[in-house]
This record gives sequence, structure tokens and C-alpha cells, in this order.
Amino acid sequence: MTSFTLHGIPVSRGIAIGRAHLLTPAALDVKHYLIPQEQVEAEVARLQNAIATVHKGLQTLWTDLPKDAPTELGAFIDVHVLILSDPMISEEPLDIIRTRHYNAEWALVTQIDELSAQFDEIEDIYLRERKADIQQVAERVLKVLTGSAQSFPKSVGLDETNAQMIVVAHDISPSDMLQFRDRSFSGFITDVGGQNSHTAIVARSLDIPAAVGLSNASSLIEQDDWVIIDGDAGVVIVAPSSLVLEQYRERQISMLRARKKLSKLKKTPSVTMDGTPISLLANIELPDDCPAALEAGAHGVGLFRSEFLFMGRIGQGNKLPSEDEQFEAYRKAILGMKGRPVTIRTLDSGADKPLDTTEHTALNPALGLRAIRFCLAEPQLFLTQLRAILRASAYGPVHLLIPMMAHAFEIDQTLAMIEQAKAQLREANKKFAPSIPIGAMIEIPAAALALPMFIKRVDFLSIGTNDLIQYTLAIDRVDHEVAHLYNPLHPAILQLISMTINAGKKAGIPVAVCGEMAGDTKLTRLLLGMGLRAFSMYPAQLLSVKQEILNSDITLIEPQVKRILKSVEPTNITLGVERLRSF
Ligand code: PEP
Ligand code: MG
Repeated sequence: MTSFTLHGIPVSRGIAIGRAHLLTPAALDVKHYLIPQEQVEAEVARLQNAIATVHKGLQTLWTDLPKDAPTELGAFIDVHVLILSDPMISEEPLDIIRTRHYNAEWALVTQIDELSAQFDEIEDIYLRERKADIQQVAERVLKVLTGSAQSFPKSVGLDETNAQMIVVAHDISPSDMLQFRDRSFSGFITDVGGQNSHTAIVARSLDIPAAVGLSNASSLIEQDDWVIIDGDAGVVIVAPSSLVLEQYRERQISMLRARKKLSKLKKTPSVTMDGTPISLLANIELPDDCPAALEAGAHGVGLFRSEFLFMGRIGQGNKLPSEDEQFEAYRKAILGMKGRPVTIRTLDSGADKPLDTTEHTALNPALGLRAIRFCLAEPQLFLTQLRAILRASAYGPVHLLIPMMAHAFEIDQTLAMIEQAKAQLREANKKFAPSIPIGAMIEIPAAALALPMFIKRVDFLSIGTNDLIQYTLAIDRVDHEVAHLYNPLHPAILQLISMTINAGKKAGIPVAVCGEMAGDTKLTRLLLGMGLRAFSMYPAQLLSVKQEILNSDITLIEPQVKRILKSVEPTNITLGVERLRSF
């Protein structure tokens, strides 16, 4: 096979080398992991048993049919029995388990997807419609399999050739991406997506190399192709020559060495050369991210994206998390951070983080009922979350952060609901910290332009540069077709950030940046020079930013940054920011 290279958007650094595993949307809905050789026959038996159970169930259904049941019902069951007995369903997936080592659910869905694609090409309408029957039969088997699901085997992720698995998909939702936390895929490639989509953010937080926006990668790359992902460049090399493979293996090793060296900075105080202490905080999606945050030496959590506790639940038939379930999760994060402050952001659902993936979405979901707008429209859901967070605050320092506010009445209503949640807890005799700081995300341009309205009402600000850029420049952060317009150095963005930092400083309230700009080492000095003293980012990036901080002298940087902020020409800004690194 001839080698070819694809260029996309780099979203998560590092190099991954492995075999391609194509995941269709249906396959993303089921568990997917590799079965070690010695457990393959047990997995085959698990699928065979599930098929036999469904078979038996269908037969019982047939015999129990009431005499006056419509004849179509019997015929319908017959068709399902026939489908189930066909080697396409009863044998092919077993082969997939044996050859590719896929778990039973994944093997079945892979086979069903292949069959469905074949059916789509059939001209006969009657036959084409049998696709639905096949899918229904598969659903029955999947249901039984879910009941017999096993925990992941230890050697997951390594196939018989010891090659790592690279996921190739058209798209991966943020909640699907989060599921990969338990598996050991070593890289991700998708056709669509932007640098700061939540899928990309989760990939970075998992610290797994990824490239997105590769247009038609999922149709060009074939199952089991060798693939290299250069996550720093957004480049994917398919079927590389042995020479290229060798070069990338060497780069991979030297990157690992550099990281190991960086880990020595973990305990070094985060202070600039001129003696200014800088707070380095972690962004987390789930309480399980806390160990990585501590490992990177984080001073606390600057952003706990609580919506990840809610996502992927409704479509799976589950309910949203109860107050107790949420309380346990928040408490786990608070205890996990061992006395360091944890900033919990209230539910920021909507746009690329829908709660219900089956629901019809608005034409412009990013401008729709997202984040606090949704919470204020669903007061019971919001109160439940507020009570859970407040209860958890009895176990360690908590800061409460509210996303996407733009109007004074939104702030006032939110504050009133926090008081209401407190009153409910008092009534129920449940304890909580009496005064937790309440902050607002500054991520809508209107908020950055109306700062006094916020400062009057809240205790701290956190700049969400991901959305601030999206809304200021009017570009969808998940749309790869406009990704080239997503520019953190646009003069308008720099003005809004600078205004926010200055306003906070003047009013004496803390300001952090928790958007992806905070984790970009190319921008560390610029932000320091603007006066930023708290950076919150995905844990894997903390030590790189710390290294930059240790080598920075704010007294030298500040005058340069003043000059940059006065420039209106983008090239002068870019050059100025590049030059900052030589000070
Ligand atoms: C942001 O918008 O910058 C932010 C931190 O929030 P999110 O990326 O979750 O929208
Ligand atoms: Mg945001």
C-alpha cells in the first residue's frame, strides 16, 4: 500500500503510532475494547450465548402468541429467527472477535454496519427495508450482551501484534470521547471538529494525541492500516514507510524524555523571575481527573466542567444524575484535591454538549438555550445541582462558577437561586459552607464590555477564551471550515481580555483564564504581561506553562505587552508575541 499524508487541525499533542480502528456512530454507542488472546474463546461464547438467549426468547414469543394474534406478528417473529440464524449474524461476528479481538458488542455492531452498508445499495425496496429488521435483531442481542458485560480485561489496548489502536471516526462527541478514558486507544482522528471543540478539549485532558478536521480520513483510511498521528502538527501519515516510522518512533522517545524532565518541576514554586507568584490550576471533566491534576502540581481546580456528569445519559435511557449522585461526585473531587480549592462550574450544556442527543437541536445551538440560560429555564434541575454543590462545600474549599451570563437579571436570578438552595438545605438540616465565593465566566463579548455590572455582583471572574473567541469573531468553534478564523491574537480578543484583567485588578477581585489560551505556552508571557496571575488548563499542560513562567520576567515583558495592545495590525501583534519569548 502506498503511503499518504493527511493534514488537519492539531488538537492534542504527542505522537501516536498504531493500527487504525474505524468506529462508526453505531459502534461508538457500544463498549469497545480488545480481548486478550487467552480470553477470545470466552468472548466468542459470550456472544454465542447471547444469540442463543435471543433465539429462545423469540421461540417463546412464538408459542405464547394468542390464537387471535394477527398473522403478521408470527411472520415478523419468523423473519427475526431467520436473520438470527443466518451465518452473517451468527458466525461472522464470531470471526471478528477471533481475528480482530474486538469485544462481542463491538464485533456485532461492526458486522451490522457492514451489512447495513450493503443493504443501502440494494435496489429492491422490500429487501432494502429488511435492514431495519437486522438492526432490531442486533438490538435484541446487544441488550442481552449488556446484561452479561464484563469489566475490561487488563491487557486492553494491545492486539496480537502489540500495536496500539488509533480510533478513526467521522466525528466523536465529547461524551463518547470521555468514554475512552477507560480504554487504551492511543490516538484519535476525525473528519470534522475544531481545535477548541469539547471533543478536542477532552482529548487533551486524556493526554492522547489527536488530529481533527481531516475531511475524509474515515473513508480514506482502512481498518488495520498503520497510522502515525503527529498531534503537534495535525498531520496523519497512513501506511508510512519503515524509514518514516523509525523517525517518528525516535521523536516519540525524545518527547517522552522531555516530559520526564519536565516532571521535575512539579514541586518548584510557580514564581516568575521577578518574584511574582502565579496560580496554576487544572481544568477537569470528572472527579477521576484529580490525581492527574495533583500529579502536575496544580494549586487547585480552576474549572470543573460539571456538565460531563450529565452528558450521554438521556440517550442511554438513564436519568440525569440525582442530587445525591452529584453530591458524591463533587465531594470526590473536593476530597481528591486534598484541601486545594475546587471551582465547580454549574451545568454548561447545549451547543456541542447536548444533554439529549436524540432531541431536535436549534438551528444555532451555540446561541440558544445553553448553560445558565438552560438552568434558569429549568429551576428544579438547577436547584438540585446547587444543593449538591453546596452540600459538597462542607468537605473542602469550593468556588462556584456560572457560565455564559450576559444580563444583570441572569446574575441576580442565579444569586437568588443560590440563596434558595441554601434555604432548602437549612430546612433539611444539611450542612454546607456558609459563604462560598461565586464567580462569573466572562465568555460573551457583552459581559466583557459590561464588567462593572458583574464586578458589583460577584466575587471573582474567569475568562472563557474559547467562547469569547467564538462569539466575538462569530465563528463556530466546532466547525473545521472556519477553524482558520479562530484567532486568539485578534486585536478585539486581546482588548476584551485585557479590559477584564484590568477591571478585576482595579476592583480587587481575582481574575483567571480557564479557556484554552491559558494552556498555550506561546501565549503565557503575553497573558502575564497583561496582568494575569491565575491560569487554569488541562493538567498535562501545567508543567510546560510553569516552565515558561519560571523563565519570565514580568518587569521586562510588561512594556512590550503594552506596545502589543496598542497595535492594530495583526502582523505586528503576532511578531510582538513571538518576540516576547526572547525576553
Ligand atoms: C471557555 O469557553 O473558554 C471555557 C473554558 O468553557 P468551555 O470550553 O467549556 O465552553
Ligand atoms: Mg465556555
